[in-house]
Amino acid sequence: MISKYSTSYPYLAVAVHYDVSYADVLEYADQIPSATLQRSQPWQLATWAAYDREQKPEIDLDTEIKSGIQVTYHRKFIMIKEALNAFALSAAKVWGYDRSNTVGASEIGGCARKAFYEKNRKIKTGVKFRANRTSRENIKRYEPDQDYVDGWGARMRGNLIENHLWVPALKKRFKKNLIMAGKDQKSLFKGFLSATPDGLVINQPRDTLKAFGIADIGEGRCFVVEGKSIDPRVPLAEAKSENVYQVHCQLGLIRECTKYRPEYALISYIDASFHDSVTEFVIKFNPHIYKRAKIRATEIKTAKSPMELKPEGWIAGGKECEYCAFLGPCNIARFNLPNSEKPVDDQFKAEIIDMCRSLNEVKTTKE
Ligand code: SF4
Repeated sequence: MISKYSTSYPYLAVAVHYDVSYADVLEYADQIPSATLQRSQPWQLATWAAYDREQKPEIDLDTEIKSGIQVTYHRKFIMIKEALNAFALSAAKVWGYDRSNTVGASEIGGCARKAFYEKNRKIKTGVKFRANRTSRENIKRYEPDQDYVDGWGARMRGNLIENHLWVPALKKRFKKNLIMAGKDQKSLFKGFLSATPDGLVINQPRDTLKAFGIADIGEGRCFVVEGKSIDPRVPLAEAKSENVYQVHCQLGLIRECTKYRPEYALISYIDASFHDSVTEFVIKFNPHIYKRAKIRATEIKTAKSPMELKPEGWIAGGKECEYCAFLGPCNIARFNLPNSEKPVDDQFKAEIIDMCRSLNEVKTTKE
């Protein structure tokens, strides 16, 4: 979500926050200054304010216009950047289901409290809010932090690589044996857990993964494929634990919801700078991790308050918090955490032990 007072994209922020078309806001801004220009709507006032902020701070534009002084300076355009930003926001992926009703495989390995905030995010209009309100009408809704900027760069990078390189390449290689990929991607659900795998490769020889030391992929003769683009600065000695958790959920849901029985998933990391640099890892399905993921999804979705869930992002060192939209509400809750001078309560202890066990299981599976 773009900040209401964004200085990088001031007019886009007005369009988003006042629910008016971006083109209308820009057209209106282009007509400033004009003494006859209407300023009756809140979005028009906000556009004037944004315009004002762009000018030299010592100039009081409003006063100048009212007093009839001719204003001669022009709005500074950031044309291409704003065009890219507007396009990226309009091209955001539209999901065919209400994502607030389940915890996705890509979210389940992240901070549980953050997932709670996301599932109970305040959405002003639309089907999503109505659908979610029906089942959880007594739960408080949370707004993202005012200064939080939902950068689209990494997401767009992933989509471009997936749609224009990864999927076409795999289609060419596996032809009709690549299913549930590209336009045929399928979302699967069980209880409060959901997943949308990148693809499933079927009808393969049982030794197809022998290059990875897997002699037999099992009777199902299929395996899940998951494509990731990755910043070259990220060390990749092993698959990222959240991605490992994600493919366990995908494998489990495919096994439970379809006729296919994959036992392995192949995660491929494509270097975001040099796409010919690809690192791959094979993960074997672990039913215990899948079972734990379903329990975890239920805990997140049935919690009545974020306080019921540990701030795992912060406990893990705070890296995830840097990209969290709910730092504000979580900060307040953080003050109630047990500190090192007080004894840790049993519930907290049990949850940390549980998390460590899950992590060990993931590590063992990878080995
Ligand atoms: S701020 Fe950190 S601990 Fe709190 S919800 Fe966000 S990721 Fe979790």
